[in-house]
Amino acid sequence: MNEVLEQLKAGVRRFQTEVYPQNAEMFLHAASERQRPHTLFITCADSRIDPNAITSTGPGEVFVTRNIGNMVPPYGEMLGGVSAVIEFAVDSLEVKHIVVCGHTQCGAMNALLAPESTANMPTVTSWLKNAHAALGVAKTLHERKAQLGFADGQVGLLTEQNVLLQMQHLKTHPSVAAAVVAGKLTISGWVYNIGTGEVEVAEDGQNQFTSIIDVE
Ligand SMILES: [Zn+2]
Repeated sequence: MNEVLEQLKAGVRRFQTEVYPQNAEMFLHAASERQRPHTLFITCADSRIDPNAITSTGPGEVFVTRNIGNMVPPYGEMLGGVSAVIEFAVDSLEVKHIVVCGHTQCGAMNALLAPESTANMPTVTSWLKNAHAALGVAKTLHERKAQLGFADGQVGLLTEQNVLLQMQHLKTHPSVAAAVVAGKLTISGWVYNIGTGEVEVAEDGQNQFTSIIDVE
């Protein structure tokens, strides 16, 4: 018997008997019309991130794409899954907002700081190049802060700089650039803290992340 598959099937049965009946109206409504998500949520593939849970959203609200390190290859360099999702979300679904969400304890950020750890994974190594500019910035900031007596961890700085870099990459995509200039689309960068549940946000044009708790 395949234990993992059986565990997954048990989960589906529980969903069908417990979760679905309580929310049947919502699911039927979601199925009755074309999806109209207001947000494209780009985040890491890390299994500890639950985009719907952390934004208190339900079916139909958030269009999600995930990959290692929540990266957005610049337009034209790696046309594939991520760029197709972005184009579809902006041009067809007409999302109003795009979130690039990084997180604490990110394996991709740790791998960038210890490249030997992915030496036997050529595809991962190649993918991580999408964050190399952030790595350079984070290292410089780390050195500068250390000289000033601040002990900001390198991985935390890299996590933030990676989100800011991917927001820049996002704007190299023609659909995004056009929608932003037309005032139809806004972008924000997030860092989600897995252990505490906190989220820090940098709006487009900001270089600093601010806790959502502080804002309200
Ligand atoms: Zn991650």
